[in-house]
Amino acid sequence: MTASRDYAALAQRGLSLDLTRGKPSPRQLDLSNDMLRLPESYHAADGTDARNYGDLQGLPELRELFGPLLQVPPAQVVVGGNASLALMHDTVVHALLGKVPGAERRWVEEPEITFLCPVPGYDRHFTICERLGITMVAVPMGPDGPDMDVVERLVASDPKVKGMWCVPKYSNPSGVVYSDETVRRLAAMPAAAPDFRIFWDNAYAVHHLTDTPAELADLLALCAAHGNPDRALVYGSTSKVTLAGAGVSFFGSSPANVEWFLANTRKQSIGPDKLNQLRHVEFLRDADGVAAHMRRHAELIAPKFELVDRVLTKELGGLATWTSPRGGYFISLEVPHAAEVVARAKAAGIALTPAGATHPYGEDPDDRVIRIAPTYPELDELEQAILGLTVCVRLVAEERA
Ligand code: PLP
Repeated sequence: MTASRDYAALAQRGLSLDLTRGKPSPRQLDLSNDMLRLPESYHAADGTDARNYGDLQGLPELRELFGPLLQVPPAQVVVGGNASLALMHDTVVHALLGKVPGAERRWVEEPEITFLCPVPGYDRHFTICERLGITMVAVPMGPDGPDMDVVERLVASDPKVKGMWCVPKYSNPSGVVYSDETVRRLAAMPAAAPDFRIFWDNAYAVHHLTDTPAELADLLALCAAHGNPDRALVYGSTSKVTLAGAGVSFFGSSPANVEWFLANTRKQSIGPDKLNQLRHVEFLRDADGVAAHMRRHAELIAPKFELVDRVLTKELGGLATWTSPRGGYFISLEVPHAAEVVARAKAAGIALTPAGATHPYGEDPDDRVIRIAPTYPELDELEQAILGLTVCVRLVAEERA
């Protein structure tokens, strides 16, 4: 009965707390306030006037800064606008409407196409597929990445499988880092579709929470080494490095894919916002500058991850399992009857990402995964929200006992 009493008290408090989206907190955004006074010069290193049209691929100095961080040769990096999600969306649209290198026809001419979706995964990847009529097939994640036996079987046997979503480092939401062996198998596996592509969303490439950064094998290089040079499409952005609403994004791939991508984007734009690109170069400077900046982020958010872990351990013990990620933005909580827990939390004023959002079509067959995004609220609010969430977990467990 303690849980019902605690829940009644929780509901009485009239809370309004939000743990839904992985947003940087205002204090994190403050770390980049100096950018608002940049760039000091509107001339790029080669003298280009950054105020004008042109340079579709992006300034070389910014590509040289972020290429190595994303494991892409700078000459094969394209700089986009503030959302890497838009680059991913547009890549799929371009593949639907214009033949990707190696394809027999445009994807829109195929009777059906399928993407593999490791679960739990990122809901906005799934939304792109839903919007563009792509069938999704869930593949379970393990501690080293997706179940590669399942992936290899599906990719080798079914030519409808044209794509696969991957968040290889500090995955959203599980925090998993793909092992070297997983990356090697992804690069080497035979594919029934000659135009099979891996959407390698390395959104958390530099987002470490500890002093021992995870290392990720180089998918692009491994694909080339295994005779599949056009397989990997790499994405990243500075959304959670500098300013989530005013960062820069990156696409990187083989020379053939980059040429194909630029040929398509040339019809959309005469050139990107190079002043923002210069602003990023002046502010971050080099790889050491990025690492120092990311350490300041970690100082602000690592205590939030520790707090969540501490409260869950104290309050839930054997009732649930959860991840303790070494980087990224999310904790994945697994509980029985997740949808009911989320509904109870909502009724008590604690907003969580809808249960099921971590799975294609919003359907978590085990009804277990709840994604916790701890970065935005300050510590006191976060503690209240997580304590409240644990009350809801205990309540549902008590009612279902
Ligand atoms: N990819 C992943 C895995 C994410 O978690 C997020 C944001 O939460 C994004 C992409 C969005 O990136 P961007 O702001 O560059 O569109």
